[in-house]
Amino acid sequence: MSFEKLQDYSSHAQLQNVHEVIQKTKNQCGRKHDNITLIAVSKTIEVSLIRPTIAAGQRHFGENRVQEAEKKWIGLREEWPDKVLHLIGPLQTNKVRDAVSCFDIIHSLDRLKLAAALAREFERIGRQLPCFVQVNIGEESQKSGVLPSSIDSFLSSCINIYQLPLLGLMCIPPAGENPSPYFALLSQMAKRNGLKNLSMGMSADYEEAIELGATHLRVGSAIFGARNKL
Ligand SMILES: *Cc1c(COP(=O)(O)O)cnc(C)c1O
Repeated sequence: MSFEKLQDYSSHAQLQNVHEVIQKTKNQCGRKHDNITLIAVSKTIEVSLIRPTIAAGQRHFGENRVQEAEKKWIGLREEWPDKVLHLIGPLQTNKVRDAVSCFDIIHSLDRLKLAAALAREFERIGRQLPCFVQVNIGEESQKSGVLPSSIDSFLSSCINIYQLPLLGLMCIPPAGENPSPYFALLSQMAKRNGLKNLSMGMSADYEEAIELGATHLRVGSAIFGARNKL
């Protein structure tokens, strides 16, 4: 087998494996019939390695950079109009227009200035993208996201001032710690604000995330293998 063929085979096989783990975990924690969306995080991964997962039925993909996503996905959108592209990385207000025309769902709404810019762009094009609000769940200085102490008032501004269609909350727990208490905290915040969806769980911790109510998993390296360092 050529190297490329081998990689094709491996992303397909790893995707199957992730699906099996998801099903097993759902069964074990009493969420057998819950809908959980697996977002294949394809940042830094080339189109030739993404195609086999599309051929295997994968439809939700996550990218963290607007420019990279535009370059990779504009052609693929015509081939697979039913694909759903999730923006999972930080969004600058001067990239809002490009992001809104390229992506279908935003996971990184994290400040009022961005809420205002999104609201303006949605108004301009007469169409809204569903958004997750990112929470800086571990209150880490190097991470973006709304601080837990401000989340309730932030959500209320997004809804009441900007009329944004909020899907739920998103978080990335601190590296090297048990993620479960952070997932539980995110779930509580969503619940008390009447939000139904939780974007949480990556390659290393999606089983814990499922146990604590994740509805959207963002899994990259467990499907596509290790990424080159950015
Ligand atoms: C890269 C990334 C992921 C996927 O990470 P893996 O550990 O490769 O599964 C998920 N969420 C965000 C926000 C990311 O930037």
